Amino acid sequence: MPDPLPSLASTHSWREQLRDAVTDPDELLRALGLRRQDVDCGADAARQFALKAPHSFIRRMRRGDPADPLLRQVLASAQETLPQAGYVDDPVGETGAANPRPGLIHKYRGRVLLIVSGGCAVHCRYCFRRHFPYADNQVGRAQWRDALAAVRADDSIAEVILSGGDPLVATDAQLAALVAEIAAIPHVRRLRVHTRLPVVIPDRVTAGLLEAIQAPRLRTVMVLHSNHANEIDDTVRAAVTALRAAGVEVLNQAVLLAGVNDSVDAQVALNECLFDSGITPYYLHLLDPVRGAAHFDVPRETALALQSAVRARLPGYLVPALVREEPGADAKVVLG
Ligand SMILES: *Cc1c(COP(=O)(O)O)cnc(C)c1O
Ligand code: SF4
Repeated sequence: MPDPLPSLASTHSWREQLRDAVTDPDELLRALGLRRQDVDCGADAARQFALKAPHSFIRRMRRGDPADPLLRQVLASAQETLPQAGYVDDPVGETGAANPRPGLIHKYRGRVLLIVSGGCAVHCRYCFRRHFPYADNQVGRAQWRDALAAVRADDSIAEVILSGGDPLVATDAQLAALVAEIAAIPHVRRLRVHTRLPVVIPDRVTAGLLEAIQAPRLRTVMVLHSNHANEIDDTVRAAVTALRAAGVEVLNQAVLLAGVNDSVDAQVALNECLFDSGITPYYLHLLDPVRGAAHFDVPRETALALQSAVRARLPGYLVPALVREEPGADAKVVLG
C-alpha cells in the first residue's frame, strides 16, 4: 500500500515526534513568545502530572496568546494543586469491580475496554485517568492473553475498545498482533479505537497502522478526541481522509472545558469543522470531577443552555450527545 500522506508527511517519523515532545513549561512558553508572568503556570502541578505536548500540536497554538484554547489544555495550572472538594482520583469508578483483570475495564454490556498503553502523545490537564493506576495495569503480552481470554469466555461481548492512555502509542506490529487475536474471537463484531494521536501527531496514521487495525470480520470505528476547531488542520484532515479511505468509521468525542470550548461559537465551529473534515461528532462529555481539574468545570445548567443554543444553530446530526459518566450507571448518562 502506498504511503497515504506523501505530500504532508513530516520528515520526522511519528515516533521521533513523540520522543521530541516538549515537557519543559519554559520551552513551551518560549516557543509561543510568552513569559511565565503572562500565564497561570503551576510548577508543583507539572511535577505531579508532567507537561507533555508535541511540536506538531504546539504549532497549532496562537503565538503570544496566554488564553489560547490548545495551550490551556496542556499547560499545568497553579489551580490544580488547590484543595478541590468533590474532585477525586477515580471519578468514574474504573477501579475495583469494573477492573477485574489488569488492562481490562468492563462497565457496559457488550463492550469491554482494553488498556493497551499507559502512555499518551499529549498530557491533557483535565484527563479523568490522570491518576489511573497504570502501574497495576501494565500491559505486556501476558496481560493481553489474560484479558483476551476473558473476552473469549463471555459471548455477550460484541465490541472491544482499545484505549489507554493512548492505544496508538503501541507500534503497528503490536497492534496488528492484538487485533488479529481479537478478530479470531467469533462473537466480537466491532473493534473500536479511542485515540487522540491522529489529532495530536497526524503522522501516526501510517499505511502500517491502517493495515493493523483492519480485519476482514470486524468493522473498525475510531473515536478521536478533539476539543477545539483550531486542533483540526490540513494534516489532521489528510489523516482522516486516509482512515476513511481504508473503511474506518471516524467519530469524535470532546470534553466541555471552561476557557477552552464553553461558548456556543466554539461548539458550532468545532462540530462544523469536524464534519467538514470527515469526522462525525459523537459525544460531548461533561468534565469528570478528577482531582486537579476543577478549574475546567462548566456547571450542568450552563452546559444544558449551551447545548440548546447549539441545537438552534446546527442540524441535529452535527450536535453530539451531551453525556456524563456516572459510576455504577449501565451506560453514559445523556443530558438534555
Ligand atoms: C465510554 C465507555 C465505553 C463506551 O461507551 P459508548 O457509549 O458505547 O461509547 C465502554 N466502556 C467504558 C469503560 C467506557 O468508559
Ligand atoms: S490523550 Fe486522552 S488519556 Fe491521554 S492525557 Fe489526554 S485525555 Fe487523557
